[in-house]
Amino acid sequence: MTYDPDNIFAKILRGELPCAKLYEDAETFVFLDIMPRADGHCLVIPKTPCRNILDASPAQMAAVMATTQKMARAVMAAFDAPGVTLQQFNEAAGGQEVFHLHVHVLPRHDGDRLRPPGQMADPEVLAGHAEKIRAALAQI
Ligand code: 5GP
Repeated sequence: MTYDPDNIFAKILRGELPCAKLYEDAETFVFLDIMPRADGHCLVIPKTPCRNILDASPAQMAAVMATTQKMARAVMAAFDAPGVTLQQFNEAAGGQEVFHLHVHVLPRHDGDRLRPPGQMADPEVLAGHAEKIRAALAQI
């Protein structure tokens, strides 16, 4: 399995496709999922290419997980959520659809249910959520 440099997240990283950006550092980039399964559902990706955890380097894994922890705290604060769910899929049989390593971070409330996949969010709603999360990040 090889890395396809034209996958959607590579295009987002190159600025060829828009996204609701939340955070970046030297190694990682974070943006809102366009079909959020919960308000604040975001995706943490490495800036360097790899398909998933199977070809990622230890350095890519470490950077992505450090940013994932930061984003977990930020989305919990932004949405006043007492919990957070992480999801991470590898290869098609594992449920992966976009072949650039990513971790889903979803703030959770007691008794809530994730929305079904595939429901596109209103860009204005996403922009409002992004603002809330960026404000929470500034407090962390
Ligand atoms: P996975 O590969 O882990 O199954 O999921 C890929 C995720 O990427 C899905 O949750 C999907 O909603 C999200 N996604 C797919 N295309 C885009 C896009 O163009 N922009 C953003 N922000 N998210 C996307």
